[in-house]
Amino acid sequence: MKFWQILFLCFVLVLSLTQCNTARHIPDQPTQVKTETSHPTNIILMIGDGMGLTQITAGMYSNNNHLELERFMQIGLHKSHAYNKLVTDSAAGATAFSCGKKTYYGAIGDDADTIPCKTIMEVAKDHGLATGMVVSSTIVHATPAAFIAHNKYRRNYEEIAAAFPGSGIDFFVGGGLKFFQNRESDGRNLCAELRSEGYVIQDYFNDDIDHIDPDPEKPFGFFTANEDPLPALGGRDYLLPATSVGISHLQHRSEKGFFMMVEGSQIDWGGHANDSPYIISEMLEFDQIIGRVLDFAIQTPGTLVIVTADHETGGYSILESSSMNDLKTAFTTKGHTADLIPVFAYGPGSELFQGIYDNTAIYDKIMTAMGW
Ligand code: MG
Ligand code: ZN
Repeated sequence: MKFWQILFLCFVLVLSLTQCNTARHIPDQPTQVKTETSHPTNIILMIGDGMGLTQITAGMYSNNNHLELERFMQIGLHKSHAYNKLVTDSAAGATAFSCGKKTYYGAIGDDADTIPCKTIMEVAKDHGLATGMVVSSTIVHATPAAFIAHNKYRRNYEEIAAAFPGSGIDFFVGGGLKFFQNRESDGRNLCAELRSEGYVIQDYFNDDIDHIDPDPEKPFGFFTANEDPLPALGGRDYLLPATSVGISHLQHRSEKGFFMMVEGSQIDWGGHANDSPYIISEMLEFDQIIGRVLDFAIQTPGTLVIVTADHETGGYSILESSSMNDLKTAFTTKGHTADLIPVFAYGPGSELFQGIYDNTAIYDKIMTAMGW
């Protein structure tokens, strides 16, 4: 190589190094979220069971082309697959969020080796946060179960119910009273056990959930049905008031903050039934609660809100339609699908939820945001 060629190569090398350096020193673009530097104090994780992009789209078009979800700026996608299957179920899907582990079908707070894994709600409790769950299924159904219990199989409902006494959960609302006080496997009355721990336990049979005003000095549980709660189209309307009351109850339960999981459980059931009106009505109810939670988070700095789903249900799709309010839809399965699932986040740490990542990263990102 001639001397001038070597000289030229050196010149190119120096130039490219300088440019790399320059690129490295471009200041970070200021964003709305980065102005918040501290860890969140409150976490509200909202799970729309079976809420894929099409469920969201159908809800939006059917609602005059609008959803509260459109208020989110930090949006990502997660890979929903389970440990041993491409298409997950709600137990493995919820355990991915609660423990940060890919696990097998039916696993409740257990990893792929059936070893119990510490859940995000248990971690929150250890850090002094108040904890709560509000769901439109039974409170022992796979999604809430994966946050409070550890069990090899999701349908061991009475065993899962037995995880409530001693858990220290501050607030819960959902169906499934019979798994607590009319048990087949033993004679235990878990409602009585919870009351002996200081809980106020009420139920749909004796009390009106629209008028509950729980004493902040005491942990609180409300059963909305003996088994599964009604669909929204059947008249169920407690999810919104229960979420509002739950938030204020949890705020009073600990000055360190709270962790709350809210599930729109029946979007999934509409998908299994291949029933568009069922899906859309559940989706719109859930979206209304999302709006209420966002309003709270905006008024209460330090609140991290995450909205996502465990998986899509139905292989739901929207076809060319004569009107947005009269969608022509189709389904490819009565079960779940392996679609990427959207994640929406607001509040301190919400920027962590941008991008494409595994469902287990939701747990990791919450832990990072909290500095745990
Ligand atoms: Mg569920
Ligand atoms: Zn399902």
